[in-house]
Amino acid sequence: MPRKNIYFFYKYTFYQNDKTASSKIDVLHETVERHGFTPVENAKEANIIAAIGGDGTFLQAVRKTGFRQDVLYIGIDDDRFRGLYCDFQIDDLHGMIDAMTMEQMEVRKYPVIKVEIDKEGSFFCLNEFTIRSAIIKTLVLEVFIDGFHFETFRGDGMIIATPTGSTAYNKSVRGAVVDPLLPCLQVNELASINSNRYRTLGSPFILGKDRKLTLKMAQSGNDYPTMGMDNEAVSIQHVKEIEVQLSDRHIKTVKLNIHDRRVTNLA
Ligand code: NAP
Repeated sequence: MPRKNIYFFYKYTFYQNDKTASSKIDVLHETVERHGFTPVENAKEANIIAAIGGDGTFLQAVRKTGFRQDVLYIGIDDDRFRGLYCDFQIDDLHGMIDAMTMEQMEVRKYPVIKVEIDKEGSFFCLNEFTIRSAIIKTLVLEVFIDGFHFETFRGDGMIIATPTGSTAYNKSVRGAVVDPLLPCLQVNELASINSNRYRTLGSPFILGKDRKLTLKMAQSGNDYPTMGMDNEAVSIQHVKEIEVQLSDRHIKTVKLNIHDRRVTNLA
């Protein structure tokens, strides 16, 4: 079945209060309608979800619509800078229409990580899961890989990034940029203590798709960390054990195949 129903996800209040911005949304609606697509008001009716903003908005669009497997997500930047997830620009819709009408389309599937906290609740992340000390005191984590003890971490926290998330927070703490097509997760430290008493690997490491990472909170009086899933805080406060692994989900996104986004994002 051809994908025809398109839902636009954007910061509603911003676009409502800014005349130039809201006229761009009108143009967007007219353009897609002219090419045979139907803008829908309810994301559940859509088979294309277009996020207008930047990478941060794309992350929200995916999260708020439930990491759907049956839709194509499209990122449209509303300024002149292209993001990792945003291949199109609001002032140049030709590329997007071309891509949506299959003329120059390439569908990419981006891996998503699954995080389970205390075996009670689980959630997905497209960029990364972060755990950080919420107080002026280090966090102590016992790190296990596939159930085997790997190290005792003491420091500010850890970031577990997907390949597409590798260019975000992970990159700011000297993590490697990973090919988005490689199914893996990257574990990175935030200010680990390395002394005679405490020792960690001290560098980021990458785990393959079948590995399971387990973080156990040491009872150090600091077991109310701040946790984040992409750009949203995890509401659970007290935590004992966190399991992270690559999920069997993927986010499908449509990209122009006339240029390679991976190269532009390394700049
Ligand atoms: P933000 O703090 O307002 O902005 C973070 C910046 O990261 C934005 O410029 C955003 O791009 C960019 N970004 C997001 N995902 C990216 C990706 N996969 N590759 C390259 N750049 C990316 O927060 P936000 O816009 O809601 O984005 C949330 C993300 O910010 C988190 O998932 C985390 O990765 C990142 N973050 C980074 C740091 C840091 O580097 N020190 C600290 C906290 C969080 P746009 O401008 O296009 O939205």
